[in-house]
Amino acid sequence: MKNKREWLIITALVMAIVMVVTVGMPLSVAANAREDYESAQEELNRIEKELSAIKDTKQKQQQEQKNAQTQINLVKNQLSSLNTQIAETSDALALKQAELDDKKADIKETDELFKSKLKAMYIRRNGNMVATALAVDTFSEMLTAVNTLTSISQADTALLEKLNKEKKEIEEAEAEIESKLEELEAAKELQQSKQSEYASLLQKVNQQLSETQAQESAAQAAYAEAKAERDAAAAELEKEFAASGGLDGFVGGDWKWPVPTNRYISSYYGYRNIFGYKEFHTGIDIPAPERTNIIASNSGVVTTAKYASSGYGNRIIIDHGGGYQTLYAHCYALNVKVGDFVAQGDVIAFVGSTGLSTGNHLHFEIRQNGATVNPYPYVKDN
Ligand SMILES: [Zn+2]
Repeated sequence: MKNKREWLIITALVMAIVMVVTVGMPLSVAANAREDYESAQEELNRIEKELSAIKDTKQKQQQEQKNAQTQINLVKNQLSSLNTQIAETSDALALKQAELDDKKADIKETDELFKSKLKAMYIRRNGNMVATALAVDTFSEMLTAVNTLTSISQADTALLEKLNKEKKEIEEAEAEIESKLEELEAAKELQQSKQSEYASLLQKVNQQLSETQAQESAAQAAYAEAKAERDAAAAELEKEFAASGGLDGFVGGDWKWPVPTNRYISSYYGYRNIFGYKEFHTGIDIPAPERTNIIASNSGVVTTAKYASSGYGNRIIIDHGGGYQTLYAHCYALNVKVGDFVAQGDVIAFVGSTGLSTGNHLHFEIRQNGATVNPYPYVKDN
């Protein structure tokens, strides 16, 4: 009997524990969804950073590739110009050499003529070669002979001297052209070595670039996958929040002014004229410089934190329980994510002009059971 009672107590305790655990289940599921979302977002951020680093590397390598290509084109132009100059100079050298050959032939001819003339001026007398001047019989004959000899000799010597001077000039010009040709050949050699240097540099950069591009494609695929996972986790989280009906009771307390450093309102809640049309303005507009802090007007859970194509741009919605929500639109950047529990005064975003906006300002709304209310009376004193 005593055993049976003990069993009843134990069974009751076990059942109680099971019930507590079971009732606690939805909370842990929500926590899991939030954890899933956060880790998916972290993974996405990590890949985004990696991708941005790869893009930087790629850009740098593309610049290097462009530089190498520019250098190669430059060298190519230089080489083509050098080849033209070398061809022209070689032609000039050949011309000069032909000129020199002609001149040498002239000199040889003149020299031979001169020698044969000299030979003619001598006659054989008594078995010896004697100058014609010495072979004459009268003094007057001798004078004439000497004068003739002298003038012939002078004219031929002058001609030979002139020819030799011209030959020397041609040789000097030839030497100049030869040294110019050597300079051009040296310059060509330098450009050729540069050409092979830049070609191997380009090959190296191309290799690196193709590796980087492969890394980029892999990272892009990983990014797409991580983004899909993040979006799925966000959707799951939003679904769970929607299903739970948001926070049970209103968090209570006052509503804080959402842009602590700027109090001016450029557009109030209610009807306003826009380009002659009457339009209902669903919140208040608070202008502030780009990136000014926006705070949570009250504590709550972030239920939306993303870009809306509807016109709100980057916007945040916070659920404050009891059917109350606040909305912060046109943000430059967001500082919280879906599922975050934020305390009143936490910096949740930064002023911007995203979406349908003509300048930096916060469009702030308070909603009660899905409908907007005039937020001004709520926040004006806080
Ligand atoms: Zn507005």
